[in-house]
Amino acid sequence: MAFTLSDEHRAIRDAVREFGDNEIAPVAREHDERKEYPKELIEEAARYDLVAPNIPEEYGGPGMDLLSSTVVTEELWRADPGIGSAIGSRGFGSSMILEFGDEWMKEEWLTAIAGGESACASAISEPAHGSNVAGMETRAERDGDDWVLNGNKMWITNGTVADVAVVMAKTDPEAGKRGISAFLVPTDTEGFSAEKIDNKLGIRASDLAELLLDDVRVPEENVIGEVDEGFYQLMNFFGSGRVSVAAQAVGAAQGALDAALDYAFEREQFGQKIGEFQAIQHKLAEMATTVEAARSLTYRAAGMVEAGEQRSAMKFASMAKLFASESAVEVADEGIQVHGGAGYVTDHAAERYYRDARITKIYEGTSEIQKNIIADGLR
Ligand SMILES: Cc1cc2nc3c(=O)[nH]c(=O)nc-3n(C[C@H](O)[C@H](O)[C@H](O)COP(=O)(O)OP(=O)(O)OC[C@H]3O[C@@H](n4cnc5c(N)ncnc54)[C@H](O)[C@@H]3O)c2cc1C
Repeated sequence: MAFTLSDEHRAIRDAVREFGDNEIAPVAREHDERKEYPKELIEEAARYDLVAPNIPEEYGGPGMDLLSSTVVTEELWRADPGIGSAIGSRGFGSSMILEFGDEWMKEEWLTAIAGGESACASAISEPAHGSNVAGMETRAERDGDDWVLNGNKMWITNGTVADVAVVMAKTDPEAGKRGISAFLVPTDTEGFSAEKIDNKLGIRASDLAELLLDDVRVPEENVIGEVDEGFYQLMNFFGSGRVSVAAQAVGAAQGALDAALDYAFEREQFGQKIGEFQAIQHKLAEMATTVEAARSLTYRAAGMVEAGEQRSAMKFASMAKLFASESAVEVADEGIQVHGGAGYVTDHAAERYYRDARITKIYEGTSEIQKNIIADGLR
């Protein structure tokens, strides 16, 4: 198996890199400081087909394969993880609609998401149930031809900006994993409200909220896929979701390395560039090696998920997510060290990459959960 990018993948990478360098990087710091959602940049990113790369052409998207989407995510996060997250998560949850939704859902929502007019949220986690997805308490009960949803969803990306949410809820509370269903819930439905969480450590340009569902009524046709099958439907996206977070981590690590390299050949001490000290050169060499190792594992996992090798793909996606996220934090930490005191303040991007990279060890399954999955896959 070759891990080189094709000409097409390289062309995508170069185009996103240009967009990142010209449009994202120059405004990254102010968006972080103001915790500002990059609305205008999202409109522009939509024109370049970057908001939901996986949505097929028939619904207005570019229909990219997983490796292409991986490269897009990586480059967006390399430019700035906060803005990269805001752009890259616009279609979060839409894979469920694409894979299991009815045609009307795809025509109405996928087109709007791909065009940049709408954002989607994926509401799984709850205040008392994060790693233990099957423990969720949000309840959906039948009432005539409708379903009525009640509960709280916590840490929901796009919570206050989404126009539609894919909400996971218990339809058979006694049945554990076998009693969960996915619902398409427009966020203007009565009883749906979102409370913004804006005290995040990093990715501050990205939107996060707690959702409250108070007698939210949706018709039967808003069930995505099969009743009680939601957990198993969700499992289909664990592989691609984890590859995507691995790509975020690779992008953040590469951004931190680029910043450190630039600084090392600007800053002088003892009459020479600090990049000429072997101690700094070795640091940069180790950072670069770690980034390449994380990238290789991520691309390989993307290839395996794309090829549909279910069991090994799950294991590799977890390995890529674990290794890339842990590496990103280490590389960003070393990036601060290369900057010395200047790395500890917001004048340079180094501290931002460090804060931003940290989330990749937590969402889409923490590092501890990835280790559980990898260990299960060894037998
Ligand atoms: C910025 C951000 C964005 C997010 N976006 C979304 C989103 O869009 N949609 C969504 O549904 N969720 C989202 N999440 C939630 C995220 O997926 C959860 O935070 C994550 O799954 C961990 O769950 P938890 O926070 O409840 O931690 P817990 O599950 O309470 O874990 C706490 C600690 O215990 C460890 N632990 C738990 N169980 C085990 C175990 N079995 N073995 C070993 N260790 C264990 C964990 O690894 C962790 O270290 C987001 C979170 C953040 C911070």
